[in-house]
Amino acid sequence: MEQAGIAVQSERPRGRPAKRFSPGRICAESDCVTFLSTYNPNDTCFRHSPIRFPRTRGRVDSE
Ligand SMILES: [Zn+2]
Repeated sequence: MEQAGIAVQSERPRGRPAKRFSPGRICAESDCVTFLSTYNPNDTCFRHSPIRFPRTRGRVDSE
């Protein structure tokens, strides 16, 4: 049980490191000054991003 975990980590391809983007970017919305994460692939912050994840799918909430 000495090498548990080691083999798994060294198997990772090293061609590309984690996808990152230049730091210090700001949301593309002119009125928005939210800084974007280096891991955010979009040009806009999470609030202005066009991609939204539906939370209630196939569910009907009685309001
Ligand atoms: Zn924004």
